[in-house]
Order: sequence, then C-alpha cells, then structure tokens
Amino acid sequence: MSLYFFDKMLKKLINLLYPKLCYGCDSLLLKNENILCCGCIHDLPITYHHNLERNDTTKKFYGIIPLEYGSSMFYFHKDGIIQKLIHNLKYRNKQEIGTYLGKLYAKDLLQINEKHQFTEIIPVPLHQKRLSERGYNQVTTFCEALSSELNIPHNPSILFRNKYSKTQTKKNREKRKEVADSLFDVTFSKQDQGKHFLLIDDVITSGATLEACAKALLKIPNCKVSIVTIAYTLS
Ligand SMILES: [Zn+2]
Repeated sequence: MSLYFFDKMLKKLINLLYPKLCYGCDSLLLKNENILCCGCIHDLPITYHHNLERNDTTKKFYGIIPLEYGSSMFYFHKDGIIQKLIHNLKYRNKQEIGTYLGKLYAKDLLQINEKHQFTEIIPVPLHQKRLSERGYNQVTTFCEALSSELNIPHNPSILFRNKYSKTQTKKNREKRKEVADSLFDVTFSKQDQGKHFLLIDDVITSGATLEACAKALLKIPNCKVSIVTIAYTLS
C-alpha cells in the first residue's frame, strides 16, 4: 500500500473514532463543514458594526478615548453560539476557532483597512501568570489570522500588563478603574510614533480593559487607536 493511501485511510479512521463536532452546538459536522455547522453559521448574531461609523462598540468609548474606528464581530448572548465558541477558544485550547473567526472577519475589514491604514495589530495582553496557566493568549490566533489576511504586522510586545491583580469585584467602580488604568503600559521607541494601532480583544463587557489598554497606547506620541473585538456583550 502506498503511503498516500495509508495516510488517507488513517485520516478516515481518525474521523470515525473522533468525529468533528460543531463548536457552537456539538452536532456532528459534515465532511465539508469546519468549526461550525451550517445551522450555527446561519444563526450567528452578526453585529454589522464594521459598516457603521457609530455603533455599540464606538459608543462605549465615546468621550472617554479618541477612537479612530471600532467594531465587534458578534453580539454575545448568555448560552448562545458565541459564548460556546469563546469558551472553547479560551478554556479548551481550541485555538483554531480564533483562526477561523479572524479569516472570516478579515473579509469585512479589508475595505476598512484600506481606509484607515492600520499599521499594527495589538492584542490585549494576558497576565504572565494566566498565560503560564493557560499556555496561550486566547486572542493570538484571531490576531494572527487578521494579520496575515490584511497584511498588517502583529505586535504582541509593545503593550504589556504591569502586575497581577486579584479579583476586582469587591472594589468600587472608581477604585477598579484606577487599578485597570495602572495595569497596562507600553514599551516603545521613536519608530513607533505616529502609528495606527488596531487593538484586539475577545469580548467587550464593561470596556474597562480596552479603555486602559488604549490609554496606555495613546502615550506614544502622535499615534491613533482603533478597536476590534470578536464579541460585544449587550447590557
Ligand atoms: Zn452547530
């Protein structure tokens, strides 16, 4: 038996033993399906933010930080497809979900990028402790897919997290904001001045993390900041 047929048979056997399941609803995926079944793709809660200059994402930061552009790909609902996708991406090491979503959103962002000319893609950094527990930052593959599809360099080192902060739930709002603002900082040289950073996160909830990240990036002279996230939580 040639190696080619052996390889083909082995793949069939693996598929039989470990069938591919939809990350949105756990149903069996068909041969031509990947990550999500047709039903889940049909039901995706798309925001269409990318076509709107003012949308839920930009409004979140209105009057707080000067955003050039902002959009979220989907609305996040409790127990919805997006919650399942993000959970698999974040806690079950299914990093291929990030690649899939990044490639998908890059199609929508192609013209946006032509207009806004983003110079670098910046992931919201995960704290070192959490990074070593989880082994990866959940937005890395999403950033990498956007980077390769849109031809924008991915820079995960310019923005960093200062220190590990324990659960912030018990602190009051003012205190939380103060802590959040001091959590992030930037390391930059003269050549980083004047860049347009596209800041990326998985989900926007209060927006405090992204706000703190954007503020840190805006310390770099003459730079601009835009935000793109996978999901937006309606509150
Ligand atoms: Zn499904």
